Parts: sequence; C-alpha cells; structure tokens
Amino acid sequence: MRTTGLTPPQQKDFLERGFSRRDFGRLAALLTGAATLPFYNEPALAQLSALGRLPDDAVRINSNENPLGPCPEAIEAMFAAVRKGGRYQYEEADAFAEAFADAEGIPRDHVLPFAGSSDPLHRTVLAFTSPNRSLVVADPSYESGERAARFIGARLFKTPLTKDYAHDLRAMAQADPGAGLIYVVNPNNPTGTLTSRAEIEWLLGAKPKDAIVLLDEAYIHFCDAPRCSDLVAAGKDLVLLRTFSKLYGMAGLRAGVAMARPDLLARIVPYGTGIMPATGMVGATASLKSKTLVAERKKINREIREGVFAFLKKHGYSFTPSVSNKFMLDVRRPGMEVVRAMAARKVYIGRGWAAMPTHVRVTVGTRDDMEKFQAALLEVMA
Ligand code: PLP
Repeated sequence: MRTTGLTPPQQKDFLERGFSRRDFGRLAALLTGAATLPFYNEPALAQLSALGRLPDDAVRINSNENPLGPCPEAIEAMFAAVRKGGRYQYEEADAFAEAFADAEGIPRDHVLPFAGSSDPLHRTVLAFTSPNRSLVVADPSYESGERAARFIGARLFKTPLTKDYAHDLRAMAQADPGAGLIYVVNPNNPTGTLTSRAEIEWLLGAKPKDAIVLLDEAYIHFCDAPRCSDLVAAGKDLVLLRTFSKLYGMAGLRAGVAMARPDLLARIVPYGTGIMPATGMVGATASLKSKTLVAERKKINREIREGVFAFLKKHGYSFTPSVSNKFMLDVRRPGMEVVRAMAARKVYIGRGWAAMPTHVRVTVGTRDDMEKFQAALLEVMA
C-alpha cells in the first residue's frame, strides 16, 4: 500500500538512512518526478542562462562544449534514427551499453546508459547521500551534485584543491567519517587539471568503509591520463561517469553512462533512468566505432589550447595548467566584471567560482573562437 507515495520497503530504507517521515513527500517526488526537480532542469544546468539568448555570431566558449559537433558516422546514424522516430527504439540503448562495455573491456552488467551524465550524477548523489551520509567535494569543482545533496538535506564537505590544482584526496578521505559519497572530477572542471591515478587508487583503499567514490571522467578523452574503468571491473566501491557531451560533440543530443558493480547500479536505478533518446544512443554507438576520433580531437584541442596558453604567457597572464578543453584564467579583478565586458563584445566565456574569485573559466573553442577571445581580452584588460 502507498499511503505516502512510497512502498513500505522504501519507507524502511529511508528511515534507516536518517530521513524522517516528514521527508516522505519530497522523496516520493524524487522517485516519481525527477525531471521536475529544481536542480535538474535546463535553467539550473545552463550556467549562463542569465545572459539570455545569445546573438547568432556569439563566440560560445562558456559551457565546455565541442564546436566540432558529432562525427560524420554519428550524424549518419542519427539521421536513420530520426526517420524511425515514431518508435521508442529501446534496443538502441541496449546496443549502446553493449558497445560501451566492449570498448572499455568491462562486463555489460556494469554499464547503465543515460541521456548524458548529469542524470546519473544527480541520481548517484540521491542514492548514496542523506541527512546522515554526507557528500564530499573538491573546491573549486563541478557543483551540480551539490545541488542534489542540498535538496535532500545531506551535509556537504568542501576541500580545497592542492597547490597543483589536483583534488586533495588525503583531505577528502578524512573530511567526514560518515561520508556517503566522495566526488572526484578528473580532469577537474573548472581548472582542467588532473588528479593522479595512484591517488585515486589510494582513496579507494583509504576512504571511510561505507563511502562510495563517484569519479567523473567527463573530460578524460582530452588527455592521456589513465582511465579508471578497470577499477570498476575490479569491483571497487566506485561509480564512474562518462559523457558524450564533450570530446564527442553531442551535448545537445544526450548520451552518457554510469559504470559500477551491479549492486551499486541497482541502488541508482530506483531513481529512474527515463527513456533514452534514440538519436543520442545511436550517435554514441557510432562514435565509439571510430578508431581515430578520440586521438584526432584530442590533438586538435591540445594544439588550440597550447596556442592560447602561448598567447597568455606572452601577455603575462596566469592560468591553470589544463589538460582538457577549459582552463581558469586569472583576470586579477572580480571575474564577473570580465565576463560581462567580454559578453559586451559577443565573446561568452564561463563564469567564476567563489573559491577563485579573480578567475574566469574559458572553454577551448575553435581557432577562430580563440582569436576572437584573445582580441577581446586585450581590449577588456587594457
Ligand atoms: N560532469 C562534469 C564534470 C561536467 O562538467 C558536466 C557538464 O559540463 C557534466 C558532468 C554533465 O554533462 P552532461 O549532462 O552533458 O553529460
């Protein structure tokens, strides 16, 4: 019987996790209507929505998107899916998960497909944090999960990055003995910097016993750092996220995965996974089949990034030593002033972070984008 919208086993589980009966209404809403959640909607996720509609000739280097868009094989596969768009095409999500598991060399039952990675990110926070199980994050880092934690009343522990802009995993491991989830973004957003594989392995051994590590590899394809999917296959207390929004150029088309042991994935599933967009699923599957895509795009991104870094060095600017498609630039004044002045020149860079108040985040766009960025920056900083 569902007097509160929750089944008796769900009520028992939530009471054991420290929620009170007063929370049941909201929790029921979580389980049934996730798409309407205040932290999971377009305005909440589109960090610069406050700027309104951008002009057609805007330089869009604010959201870490890939200006190259989907690869030709993905576009072709998606056209075919559009023609069959009257069908749900459920089998495409399964084919995608299978292709992904193959590509990573991990068992199929360790992969759950999603429409992007925001979705499993939020759901993992909902599944593993609660009023008595905290979320531990780095600062500055990607804040999306924090909003989900706040919504369900989980405590938040923020640990500063090290002086090399790595996650301070020693501090994160000790932040709270009652931690439910420790969130590591590698390479980090907004700094673009790495945390070493050795440290991640150390964390998996040293974390509080019941805590789960959530490792977000949204930007891993841009760099040569080792991936951690083998640690998923090895059965660690790890949920690993990937997205097709960044290197693969499919942000608007939506494909991503959560990888974890089946018992951990089973704890995320009750929060719903929705119906997958067939376009995103077939586009991602086709992208995985390309043998050259990742290497080519990594090289393009690195060359453009290094060009921008040479320009910045020449003009005496400091920036984070990013290995991915965005970096933090020190503008030596309140960052948002520069964001607004650049926007007035139709160059839309990312925002600042409270932990780095004189920095702004800049996405590495096309060569042309970055030339316009450089010209506008010289004007704004003059
Ligand atoms: N994780 C990180 C670190 C991100 O920066 C982003 C988006 O910018 C996401 C996850 C979510 O991206 P998506 O939902 O498009 O996969």
